[in-house]
Amino acid sequence: MTQLATTTGTHFTQLDAGPIQRWPDYNVTLPGLEIPGKLFIKDILGLTGCEVSINAMPPGGAVPFYHFHQQNEEVYIFIQGQGQLQIDGEILPVKEGSIVRVSPAAERTWRNTANTPLVYIVIQAKQGSLAQYSGRDGVIPEKAPNWA
Ligand code: ZN
Repeated sequence: MTQLATTTGTHFTQLDAGPIQRWPDYNVTLPGLEIPGKLFIKDILGLTGCEVSINAMPPGGAVPFYHFHQQNEEVYIFIQGQGQLQIDGEILPVKEGSIVRVSPAAERTWRNTANTPLVYIVIQAKQGSLAQYSGRDGVIPEKAPNWA
């Protein structure tokens, strides 16, 4: 794994995670568990309100366990490939463009059913924590964009 390139400014951190074709090279190591094709980016970016991972599950890949969360809901955003997401025993086909919210308590697992990587992004945030957003949180200052 090459060193991840980040750029940091006063109010931002940018990660260059590389082209999707290289995402299978990422690897997460947890106690007793190797997860190929996964990169958590919360700590890299310094996120404080959610965890995000980018993922490229190889052909034939499957998560070998169910998991659920104590507090966090998850959104799975599928970008490429085809697979199945199983939620409390219900099997959903997923593919490019599928976006699925999963409640914290739901037992979930998923697998790649195609011969290409299953590419997806997972966003994890505390259920019910979003107090304001979009037009209630965003503010448009009195200045025009300047790209010069
Ligand atoms: Zn999870």
